[in-house]
Formats: sequence, structure tokens, C-alpha cells
Amino acid sequence: MPELPEVETVRRGLLPVMEGARIARVEQRRADLRFPFPENFVARLQGAQILSLTRRAKYLLATLETGETLVMHLGMSGSFLIDATQPGAFHHASGPQHLEPKKHDHVRFEMSDGSVVTYNDPRRFGFMNLITDLANHALFKNIGIEPLGNELSGVFVLNAFTGKKAPLKAALLDQRIICGLGNIYVCEALFRARLAPFRAAGSLNLAQAETLSNTIRLVLEEAIVAGGSTLNDFSHADGTLGYFQHCFQVYDREGEPCVICQAPVLRKVQSGRSTFYCAHCQV
Ligand SMILES: [Zn+2]
Repeated sequence: MPELPEVETVRRGLLPVMEGARIARVEQRRADLRFPFPENFVARLQGAQILSLTRRAKYLLATLETGETLVMHLGMSGSFLIDATQPGAFHHASGPQHLEPKKHDHVRFEMSDGSVVTYNDPRRFGFMNLITDLANHALFKNIGIEPLGNELSGVFVLNAFTGKKAPLKAALLDQRIICGLGNIYVCEALFRARLAPFRAAGSLNLAQAETLSNTIRLVLEEAIVAGGSTLNDFSHADGTLGYFQHCFQVYDREGEPCVICQAPVLRKVQSGRSTFYCAHCQV
């Protein structure tokens, strides 16, 4: 499942092709993904210029000149493929072979310069919607602050977690407080901050909250940099945006030595998900 750094990497990959560009043509190959596409999806997009391509939590937001925003979520297995190799190619009636749809290609955006952006999603947990009033929409009105924005700070974490008996890890995964944090990067941030995932969220002091907010930002930014290095390939035809390998310090390293103290990394199931941690280094 793509986490926030992957989604941000996808956004940065799509930016040069989509932001400021006009959608010339849309092919919608099924009626639904996780949810049905909105009514007249194709007609509402065709001809519209994309004014900006931003991200909120794990949603990609293409703000259209029509006043609507195209909201895209990658679900479990969604990815975008950019083909900018033959600008103008789709104007030819026959069409080049590499533009033939592949299995699980569900939506294809043809931009006015001929670039083609294809959405592929084998498991179809992703979705697309067209929304006018983003701030008051059910998807967005209750989500918390951005972990990469200016709002995240030690003081914010301290205040948000005060009095909370829930485990620290659960509080960090609560999307109503900080949005877009998933299992992998919460495990990593807690390890870097030397904080135990099981301690009460409300037990942090200001110094710990500062360290935690800094490490959250750090692990996400490192992952985005790692993802960015994969972007070098995408403009050459078949680069699929969305997933990349990244080295983790504790995540998925059960039994391997802690990078700080060499004790084996432990795994414990917490709310149905694996928590990886070092019992010596994290208190
Ligand atoms: Zn350790």
C-alpha cells in the first residue's frame, strides 16, 4: 500500500505533465473502482485545464479551472504511468502500439501536448471523484494536520496527545490528529525518537514531543528523497510511479540486529498490525 512518501513522489512525477496542462481526452474503461466514478466523469474533465496538482493526506488533488477538484486515491495497488515519449502521438488515428491499454489500465488522461497518463490498479481499492467544496466534504473535513506542513511541532504533538491513554503508536496512526502517517513510517519515527510504541501517548514531555515531530518529518523527507531518485527514469516511457524500495531501520527487520545496540529487533502485533521496535533503545 502506498504511504504518504509514495503519494508525494507520484505527485512530483505527475507535476510536469499535468500541472498547468489541459486534459484533451479521457478514457474511462469501467464504471467503478472502489466506488463508482462520478456521473459524467469524462465530460466534466475533458477540455479542462489543471491549475494545480497538490496533495492532502494520501489524496492527489488536481484543481480544475471548472471549479471542481479531481480527487485521486491510489488505494492498495494503484499507480500512474506517464508516457511523454511521443507528444502528439494520440492525434494519429492508428495510435502507436505502446499506447494500447494493459490489463488493469482503468483511466487514461491524454493531455493537450500529447502526453498520456494512465491509471492502473489491479486490486481496485483506489478511487477518483470530482468535488467542489473540498474543505467541507466528508473525505476531508475531519482529517488532521499534514505531517510535512508547518503545523507539526513539538507543541502541537504535546497538546494533541495530552491526557491520552492510548498507545503512542495508535495516536500517531489516528488520521484525525496527523494525517497520512501509516504503519511503516510510524515504526521508523518512533525508533529514531527512541520512544516505545506501547507507552501512553499522553506520557510525552515537551522535549520528547519535539524529538518525535522532528523524526516524523525526517523519515518522511528521507523517503521522499529516495522516491525522487526513482523519478529519474519515469520520463523515459515505462516508469511506473508509485512504489520504491527504501531502507528501514526497524520496519520488517524482526530478529535482525538493532542498528544502535545490536539487540534483535522485535515484532509485536498492535491493533492488528505489526509493530517493529527495539526494546532496549525505545522507552
Ligand atoms: Zn536497540
